[in-house]
Amino acid sequence: MDPVRVRFAPSPTGRLHLGGGRTALYNYLLAAQTGGQFILRIEDTDRKRYVEGAEQEIYDSLRWLGLEWDEGPDKGGLYGPYRQSERKAIYLDYARKLVDLGHAYYCFCTPERLESVRREQQANKQSTRYDGACRHIGPEDALRRVESGERHVIRFRSPDEGQTTVTDLLRGNITVENETIDDFILIKSDGFALYHLAAAVVDHLMKITHVLRGAEWLPTFPLHGLIHRAFGWQEPVWVHLSVFLKPSGSGKLSKRDAAELIKDGHSIFLKDFHTLGYLPEAVTNWIALMGWSYDDHTEIFSMKDLVEKFSLIKLNPSPAAINFSKLDHFNGVHIRQLPQDDLVSRIGPFLTRAGYNPDIQTLEKVAPLIRERMVTLDDSVDMAGFFFQDAVTLEPSDLIGKDLDASQTAVIVKQVHELLQQTDDFSADGLEQLLREFVDQSAYNNKQVFGILRVAITGQRVSPPLFETMEIVGKDKALVRLLHAIALLEKIN
Ligand code: GLU
Repeated sequence: MDPVRVRFAPSPTGRLHLGGGRTALYNYLLAAQTGGQFILRIEDTDRKRYVEGAEQEIYDSLRWLGLEWDEGPDKGGLYGPYRQSERKAIYLDYARKLVDLGHAYYCFCTPERLESVRREQQANKQSTRYDGACRHIGPEDALRRVESGERHVIRFRSPDEGQTTVTDLLRGNITVENETIDDFILIKSDGFALYHLAAAVVDHLMKITHVLRGAEWLPTFPLHGLIHRAFGWQEPVWVHLSVFLKPSGSGKLSKRDAAELIKDGHSIFLKDFHTLGYLPEAVTNWIALMGWSYDDHTEIFSMKDLVEKFSLIKLNPSPAAINFSKLDHFNGVHIRQLPQDDLVSRIGPFLTRAGYNPDIQTLEKVAPLIRERMVTLDDSVDMAGFFFQDAVTLEPSDLIGKDLDASQTAVIVKQVHELLQQTDDFSADGLEQLLREFVDQSAYNNKQVFGILRVAITGQRVSPPLFETMEIVGKDKALVRLLHAIALLEKIN
């Protein structure tokens, strides 16, 4: 495939979500695969919906995912500016050109008139659209009114009759009756362009070859095709991606659903996945497969694999349900694929955020013990926080061994304490041998003794393997923790 020029064109009107991330990813992959350019264009013309900080979140989220752009507002490039608000002056010229070509016209209807037309259409159960009143004003007349300062907009003159066929790469030809295409506004009365015109013009000027975008643009897709054709421009290849559905598979995800999700440690906003302890590798793998597949069984893809294997042909236009269990699975797999030092450096910040002060040497020993069971990086806090505490906080009743009482348990801990005090070998193997011998010679079983020790040493019932854990905790700390456990048990009596 020839090198493509593709763009991701988010509006900074809210937080960047999974759908946006996936659109960006597919664009990025196509550019990377073909040696083309991936362009970031910020579509910030709707000042009323502009959200402070949203643009920065777009940059941060894309970079976190590893989707670096070749041209963009912060980078420049040959086809700038890359922020729509900085190029708004040019659109009026293009709209006037369409007026000259007969594909657009000035409309002087007042908001009140438009409102009453709309009401009448609603009352008659007709679809609401512009009734074309200003279509018939002669060009000189119209120009005179414009020059005299009369308030106006510029509308597209959609063809009066016939049909329009546009082609989506995934869906094939889409044909609509032209009478169903409204005379959309291209330029508002304040002189600023609306999306339909602005996107067509800027895609043309930026030499965009493929438009990969959300399916919400399908309804106005014929209009976009018509605008390109009215200028006599070659259309880009159009690809409308599949819609995301709620995890249940029914309906589109709403803002309310998003708020509920975060309670379960999930989100639809890319930046949250970082905080929740997901790896960008897992998130890209996951969203890549929401609408694309390589074959019917391969599931784990690195970014390099995706760049190699991605293809437009294998995109699937059917709606995709968001499946968080799959993400958890991918995250675990990608965590286990990380080189050890990489994993260590990613876990560290989560422990620090939870209030621990993890040192690298200990963390390097701890990481191999927990990586098999980790689903998110955040799990490291529950699984390994106790390694970085001086003392563990305990629920005294948790200490008591199965079928034992507090005083029996205390005796066991005292005996083990004595034994450990005397040993110089605090290696996992040495400890295992010593403690297994102890159990063999006692009246208790492994489950009882090791269960008590686990709680005494780690403060929790579930922990990484006991002997390895004790080795890392070290003799001094382990003995202190046992003494603390004895004191607690004695208090119960
Ligand atoms: N700004 C539009 C959006 O956020 C871009 C659509 C497009 O890619 O053309 O949906």
